[in-house]
Amino acid sequence: RTVFVNGSYLPEAQATVSIFDRGFLMADGVYEVVSVLDGRLLDFDGHMARLGRSLDALGIAQPMTDTEWLAAQRRLVADNAITDGLVYLQVTRGNPGDRDFAYPPADTPPTVVMFTQSKPGLADNPQAQTGLRICTVPDIRWARRDIKTVQLLYPSMAKMEAKARDCDDAWLVEDGPTGKVVTEGTSNNAYIVKGGSIVTRALSNDILHGITRAAVLRFAREAQMNVEERSFTVDEAKAADEAFITSASAFVMPVVEIDGARLGDGQPGPVALRLREIYLEESRKTAI
Ligand code: PMP
Repeated sequence: RTVFVNGSYLPEAQATVSIFDRGFLMADGVYEVVSVLDGRLLDFDGHMARLGRSLDALGIAQPMTDTEWLAAQRRLVADNAITDGLVYLQVTRGNPGDRDFAYPPADTPPTVVMFTQSKPGLADNPQAQTGLRICTVPDIRWARRDIKTVQLLYPSMAKMEAKARDCDDAWLVEDGPTGKVVTEGTSNNAYIVKGGSIVTRALSNDILHGITRAAVLRFAREAQMNVEERSFTVDEAKAADEAFITSASAFVMPVVEIDGARLGDGQPGPVALRLREIYLEESRKTAI
């Protein structure tokens, strides 16, 4: 596999980063995942806009223009013959010197790493036909979940806990005034459907502003579906007609069970399946 590191395209075994890099020592960096279908990048502009916001929030310099990002991603997709899959990109603060809590000088070049992952049949994931079983896990992450940092230890732990409890993934929950409320999934945004309305937590620092979320809510409103951006409790979710998640790599994925409670008839719901279809159709049209 050919990977990108700081402007060079190299075989993955030859790509190296300093052990003093703040991404490695301090999780001081941000990332994006862009899906590839039919060799084209989905929601590219949205992912690059959020990358810019994450970098700004941490005061890391933007290493490349969007035109350069696009050219680099297209080159990796082509060099690795990716038809369906992902582009993973990461920008860390770098580090020219020794380990230190204080940031290095502002003109320190960030470290840029990018690689592809081939996922044949990504859009035909059979899980969309059976749906996910979700377990809830306390959300003990930091208070700036809107920044897409590489600080992914807790989401990994939550996913492992979900698997140990025989679930496919976890939804993260916090105490609210009327019970446990869902923030989001470990690596996706969370939704329920009740009485025809799509309910998902409003944007704030408490959740990642999903690029897929933005697109799906736009398509839902265009299709005259009712959307409520508000918090929902675990109890409300367990009593919902259906539920689903969204992310760049899962698109729209139905949820059929929450903490052992089966939703509806235990099959993927019509709203989730319809939104999956619309998302795939519409985002293929604007893929570049
Ligand atoms: N929330 C979290 C915590 C995530 O990690 C992700 C995916 N990286 C998402 C939501 C979904 O965002 P997107 O649709 O942009 O992939």
